[in-house]
Amino acid sequence: KELIEAKNIWKIYGGGEAKTVVLRGINLKIKEGEFVAIMGPSGCGKSTLLNILGLLDVPNKGMVYIKGKKTTMFSENDRAVFRRKISGFIFQQFNLINTLTALENVELPLVLDEKNKNYRIKKAKKLLKIINLGHRENYYPNQLSGGQQQRVAIARALSNNPKIIFADEPTGNLDSKNSREVMDILKELNEKEGITVIMVTHEPEFAKYASRIINMKDGEIVEH
Ligand code: ADP
Ligand code: ADP
Repeated sequence: KELIEAKNIWKIYGGGEAKTVVLRGINLKIKEGEFVAIMGPSGCGKSTLLNILGLLDVPNKGMVYIKGKKTTMFSENDRAVFRRKISGFIFQQFNLINTLTALENVELPLVLDEKNKNYRIKKAKKLLKIINLGHRENYYPNQLSGGQQQRVAIARALSNNPKIIFADEPTGNLDSKNSREVMDILKELNEKEGITVIMVTHEPEFAKYASRIINMKDGEIVEH
């Protein structure tokens, strides 16, 4: 089944002399349960495309469909529901809140979702166990290694039981051992939980974890 379809997506910044055409007519279909890697050199438009597929950004032209529905018909609330309840986002910068413990960081989306305290704590503890950080739940981000921080960010992304994970260079700040750990977790979530993973990377070694690789160059898809 088609989960996300992008038809003729263009993204253009600025105008006149400063005009930058970042995406040039992207066409793409992603099925439920796929693990897709988007590859290509720095500046070719990978993050921009991922942000558009994840409804964090809008194209200047073209259409994104979610399960066949035109996302231009989505209300602001529909878009927020898609981002907060259907998707989980992971970035190169872990974006954890430094004044909150690992447990509190994972709990936070559930606080915003007005889930009760018992549920939140139980869920956050369970997720920290899954990513092998049960023993670090009361540590603050600056007391954790980069790899551990990224795993906390993954747990946080999982708190709302997402159907899709959008990952933008999730290993960009990690050494190879920690990178492999993060990739193993994404692979397992894809294979065991059936979560669709859409990941941007410029590292061929990590793109291999995906079931499909999309290569981009200068705002276009050059090879599937
Ligand atoms: P990649 O993820 O492949 O490195 P990006 O999607 O981050 O590429 O960026 C593609 C191009 O778009 C770059 O040249 C970048 O400078 C430009 N770009 C990205 N965001 C903006 C923006 N908000 N305003 C202007 N240019 C931007
Ligand atoms: P990446 O590591 O994915 O290539 P960048 O460092 O290019 O990311 O971009 C980081 C953020 O800055 C993004 O949100 C992007 O939209 C924004 N950005 C990138 N290039 C520009 C630009 N030329 N003008 C304005 N914003 C930009």
